[in-house]
Amino acid sequence: MSTPYVPPVADYEFLYREAFGRDIVADASGGALSADDAVEIIAGAGEFGASVLAPLDRAGDQVGARLEDGQVRLPEGFTDAYRALAEAGWVSATAPESAGGDGLPASVGAGLGEIWNASNAAFALCWMLGAGAIHALDAAASDDLRETYLTKLVSGEWTGTMNLTEPEAGTDLGAIRTMATPRDDGTYAISGQKIFITWGDHDVADNIVHLVLARTPGAPEGAKGLSLFVAPRTLVNDDGSLGERNSIETVAIEHKLGIHGSPTCVLSYEDATGYLVGELHGGLAGMFVMMNSARVGMGHQATGISDRALQGAADYAAGRLQGPVIDRPAGTSIAEHPDVRRILRSMSSQVFAMRALSVYVGDLFDRADSGEDVLRMAELFVPILKGWASEEALRVTSDGIQVYGGMGFIEETGAAQHYRDARIVPIYEGTTAIQANDLVGRKVLRDQGATVAALFAQIDETVAALREGRAVGEGRAVGDDTAVRIADRLSRALDASRRATDALLGFAGSPRDAYAVSVPYLMLLGTLAGGWMHALTAVAVAVHAAPSETDAARLTEADFYSAHHLVRVHALAETVAAGEIA
Ligand SMILES: Cc1cc2nc3c(=O)[nH]c(=O)nc-3n(C[C@H](O)[C@H](O)[C@H](O)COP(=O)(O)OP(=O)(O)OC[C@H]3O[C@@H](n4cnc5c(N)ncnc54)[C@H](O)[C@@H]3O)c2cc1C
Repeated sequence: MSTPYVPPVADYEFLYREAFGRDIVADASGGALSADDAVEIIAGAGEFGASVLAPLDRAGDQVGARLEDGQVRLPEGFTDAYRALAEAGWVSATAPESAGGDGLPASVGAGLGEIWNASNAAFALCWMLGAGAIHALDAAASDDLRETYLTKLVSGEWTGTMNLTEPEAGTDLGAIRTMATPRDDGTYAISGQKIFITWGDHDVADNIVHLVLARTPGAPEGAKGLSLFVAPRTLVNDDGSLGERNSIETVAIEHKLGIHGSPTCVLSYEDATGYLVGELHGGLAGMFVMMNSARVGMGHQATGISDRALQGAADYAAGRLQGPVIDRPAGTSIAEHPDVRRILRSMSSQVFAMRALSVYVGDLFDRADSGEDVLRMAELFVPILKGWASEEALRVTSDGIQVYGGMGFIEETGAAQHYRDARIVPIYEGTTAIQANDLVGRKVLRDQGATVAALFAQIDETVAALREGRAVGEGRAVGDDTAVRIADRLSRALDASRRATDALLGFAGSPRDAYAVSVPYLMLLGTLAGGWMHALTAVAVAVHAAPSETDAARLTEADFYSAHHLVRVHALAETVAAGEIA
């Protein structure tokens, strides 16, 4: 039996109100909302996730999506749950106001994203993909398309998909062959096969809005010749009612390692009707809007699945007795074995780092209008959050199995499901290598390290604040030494990160060297950023006049992260400096 899901409301309260030294929700909303409001929203979502979505997670895994007579069906309960989610306004909550949504700050969206994914990651993909489609249509669609499709996506009545991948075009979108031929009436006839389309067919909503990347006759070769189209599963009449089925056939659904509750479809387009979104040959730009939103969403997915694995493991360890525990009375559970404690702390400190970084990246996007430098920092963090959090989710979910021992390997406990579900996160929405190439090529080498240097300067300030806190910390009962230890480790990791960055910049003339170590460099920056999040937390709790038990626990987590995770930066820096070893 899986452990019931408990949403991490207190962490979000801390992150929204204190961790970054200000009420980030009030700042993002111009005072229209406060951290208190955001906590209420998170608590409401947590209740919905725990009571409606989480109970369907096992059925999604064990029964899964099925293709029956050309129609994909989800296990019992999914349709009602989706309708309830849309009717409660959870789909429109994070949609931009310009698209008719509530426009909640991205930092609050990070919390919601984590909760949906922790509750039921396979199901959450349904409206996460829709969120990407909403952003892409909001950025580029004509008034007609907005009226017909965007409104229904925002209300959640219909769902959205992202159709990029083809058998011969995975990472390399320039190889896409699906053809969109213009018709006299201004629509396009789309033909081709798309594979791996998440929630490409289902029975939980009345229509599906496919966003399709295709080539038009005579278009330039490669990615520059791609255009973006809307192709609904069911065509829409002029009065907005549903008409005939479009000629898009679900040929198969994939049998996968995990996320069985998410139908991954092979779709065949045979002269299907499509509508151009934005400029002809401007498809990639539109798709990037969608991909960026989805990549940040993957950070939330990694966090959610990891937290679910942690909660299960902690619960199991608290109840399992096995042998005498060093320096503890008889009858103490395995949770107190020093090594089990180490694993659980490793998991929890990593989950907090991911959670805090997701909120921080949301906050950067919320402030992106305030200056080019903030936008650049937000964009720097997109591949870091996606790549690092998804890779770490593999470690966390694997550790979760270890805590259960043999029972972790047995499906009944649910620990194995988290591990299997997490395995896709470093692959889709661009593999970790693709995130790392984006990071190194577009975001570090292109501005010769300027944005990353600005990040390091901010971390320097946190180191100084931790150290000064010790000197001036009147009334501090916890953490003086701990805070300084954390500051010292962070400062040393920062030195190593600067050396690694210098080495990387030195590879500018020999790109194979830079790209051979781009993933280690991404992991270095992600690990450093995780340590920074913990250090900011240590600064925030240090100002409390009367530190609480929770403050002490947060400081312990920060101390642990800096000793067990942050230190990996030194090894990664050595690897980066080595370049390609051919
Ligand atoms: C469950 C699931 C759901 C999916 N959902 C969707 C969806 O909704 N919509 C959609 O369009 N697609 C979807 N995908 C496709 C997914 O995005 C691709 O599988 C992914 O981008 C990788 O492409 P590929 O499988 O062709 O692998 P390949 O591109 O063949 O890559 C194979 C290996 O080569 C490496 N590689 C390739 N190119 C480079 C490079 N330039 N530099 C360094 N390394 C490189 C990769 O990192 C990887 O290790 C989904 C896939 C799965 C499995």
